[in-house]
Amino acid sequence: MHNFQTYVLVKSFHIVLLSLFICFTYAQKPQSDALSIQLKPVNSKGISTQEVSIPIVTIDSSNTVDIKAEFWDNVNFNPYRNEIVKFPFEVKFEDSTYHSPISREKVITSRYGWRRGRPHKGIDIDLITGDSVSTILSGVVRFARYSRGLGKVVVVRHYNGLETAYAHLSRINVKVNDTVAKGQFIGKGGNTGRSTGSHLHLITSYKGQYIHPEYIFDFSEENKIRAKDLWVTKEWTRASFHSSRRKSKLELYTTEKQALASLVKTRKIYVVKSGDTLSRISKRNNVSIAAICKTNRIRKSSTLRIGQKLVLEL
Ligand SMILES: [Zn+2]
Repeated sequence: MHNFQTYVLVKSFHIVLLSLFICFTYAQKPQSDALSIQLKPVNSKGISTQEVSIPIVTIDSSNTVDIKAEFWDNVNFNPYRNEIVKFPFEVKFEDSTYHSPISREKVITSRYGWRRGRPHKGIDIDLITGDSVSTILSGVVRFARYSRGLGKVVVVRHYNGLETAYAHLSRINVKVNDTVAKGQFIGKGGNTGRSTGSHLHLITSYKGQYIHPEYIFDFSEENKIRAKDLWVTKEWTRASFHSSRRKSKLELYTTEKQALASLVKTRKIYVVKSGDTLSRISKRNNVSIAAICKTNRIRKSSTLRIGQKLVLEL
């Protein structure tokens, strides 16, 4: 490029004599992705032609993937209801950061997990009604309407198949099939649907499987995507394995091998001591109450006896 500019400058001195004849040749050799231009002065003899080569920018794969090919449904919030997803599954990212959905500092008021006896399948981020909400990654709007429970909600499908949903909005400012760029304004935050107090309920899902958003995204101000290649196990999709009130212990699986290895549990026998409760055993051994109950076929309300043996799957 520099050579080309110098060449143009020199040539401008001879501009009276010359008219440039530009010959474009598209280099079709597969090994060179460049546009080759031959510059040839027409009315001046003795000046050799010069060839400049301009690299062709490779088209980003996000523009070539047809994310609307399957399950493109603008009426149902979850069109994947009968789709069977094999675990663990892979989610890949081209970006290493996402765009914050809100412009103020992100304050998490409730996490993905079990909450008041029911699953909370999203993360709550505090905001004030009327605050701008942006899509965290580029994609196409699949759903933009009122849905019971979620209120006014926008679902964006991204080029890696991941979907993000922005719920309880006071206003929707996009239409279905709109292409949206990372960070683009999509609506205003609010308190519509089943919600107490204005906040953004952010959902991340893949083919209808809800994923713990904190497994994928770091909600600190750095807006980092945790890994370019993530393997999702059932543990990161089931709300019952997590608590909405505390941060889950994070262990990322960046290969299928790691994800599969994580499924091999070690068993430990725990003997109930005086003063033990399910909650205390759960916290101290880092095993969810739900998991303890399932493995031992007991209820959350069951009374524990001193000396009782419990199997803990670690
Ligand atoms: Zn929520």
